[in-house]
Amino acid sequence: MDGGDGRPRQQRRRSTRQGRYSIQDFHDETAGVFSIGVVTPAELVLLILNHTGLAAGLIEWLDRIEQSQPLCISCETVFTHTLLPTAWLIAQAVGNAAARGVMLMGCCEKCCGRHPSAEALIATAADQLRRGAWPDLRVLDPVHFGPGGRA
Ligand SMILES: [Zn+2]
Repeated sequence: MDGGDGRPRQQRRRSTRQGRYSIQDFHDETAGVFSIGVVTPAELVLLILNHTGLAAGLIEWLDRIEQSQPLCISCETVFTHTLLPTAWLIAQAVGNAAARGVMLMGCCEKCCGRHPSAEALIATAADQLRRGAWPDLRVLDPVHFGPGGRA
């Protein structure tokens, strides 16, 4: 019988299903310092044109979507190729140029409606991350990160 290993369900699920680049890898690589920005799919396209790491991360995320079954940051909605996030949260390392990772999180249409501002979505994502790999996560200042043209 698999009694689990004591970690929260979601973290276990992420690290076992995502395989190559886990949330723990991202945590280690960023040394716990990263920024999160919220972008719409249209803004995401623009960002990809200027950020090759992001393009690779998104392609990998989409490529593995049926296996990894990523959850909405705020509910139990499982994203698939036909049910993609309404908004994306993009986390990337701050001050570590060697870090290859960007961590992508999705938010479903219903939850975007419940958290209509970028700040509210980031706060929701931060709550989720605290329950998973980052129990000591603190949100410093989301305005330092500028997807959508604020950089
Ligand atoms: Zn949701």
